[in-house]
Amino acid sequence: MDKKTSGVSEPFMGNTAPKNFTKNPIKGTRFTIAVSSAKGGVGKSTFAMNFALALKSIGLKVGILDADIYGPSLPKMMSIKHKPESKDGKGLVPIEKYGIQCMSIGFLVDEETPMIWRGPMVTSAIKTFTEKVLWNNLDFIVVDMPPGTGDAQLTFAQQIKVDGVIIISTPQEIALLDVKRGIKMFDKLKVPILGLVDNMSFFQSDDGKNYSIFGEGGVEKVAKEYKKEFLGKIPINIDLRVTSDEGKPLVEKDPNHEISKIIIEITKKIEKLFLKK
Ligand code: ADP
Repeated sequence: MDKKTSGVSEPFMGNTAPKNFTKNPIKGTRFTIAVSSAKGGVGKSTFAMNFALALKSIGLKVGILDADIYGPSLPKMMSIKHKPESKDGKGLVPIEKYGIQCMSIGFLVDEETPMIWRGPMVTSAIKTFTEKVLWNNLDFIVVDMPPGTGDAQLTFAQQIKVDGVIIISTPQEIALLDVKRGIKMFDKLKVPILGLVDNMSFFQSDDGKNYSIFGEGGVEKVAKEYKKEFLGKIPINIDLRVTSDEGKPLVEKDPNHEISKIIIEITKKIEKLFLKK
């Protein structure tokens, strides 16, 4: 083949070469921990809110960023009804609730307004939330990620210094396939996976019998297969659901509840990775 006509031009090659992204830490924070799930509805936001409150309960300064652009849950789960203020027209002041600093796309739009956004808008919203929010002196910021492996995850993983990600899933086969995809994505993007959490692991009836509604041990198996830490199991519990719906997460409302204790145990494992080396 004629060399002159084959191949691609140099400018084009420049465009396709892998980009080196600079990963900036979120200003005003020491460590950024993302809570991610491959699928929606597996309890990611519930865990993220309770995990943030558990970090606070062990004496740390904590913020939570609800980056679930298409389905923000923070305003409802933390019962926040007002909008954040901007004193200088540039920086947004996070809203303080239950002793933690909160920011969500849901503060800026009506509860029932669908976010019909394409990738670049999602990316720019995430940039706003990570660059323009005046987080104040936080030990940890917990990021409630949107489910899946799309634009928001990529923006975070490539442009923001994420110190670690916790992946949460139900033990159901169909969810586990997506968990594996999530693990591969974070590994590829060199975001440390802190561990996996199995949510809705089983339901315990009044007579003490356990029912494995979504299957058994699936997340732990995936953790072993991919050599990741298994952080623990959270059973199906009505109080966890009710307190989220009421706007005062269980760890805050009742830190001695058996489920709160499980979440606080998981939280201590994570804290140790960062603060007690
Ligand atoms: P995601 O963020 O993954 O979409 P959510 O945290 O919104 O999921 O949880 C989906 C629903 O399941 C919510 O109604 C929540 O209260 C409920 N839920 C989550 N985890 C549990 C659990 N372990 N037991 C009972 N209900 C749960």
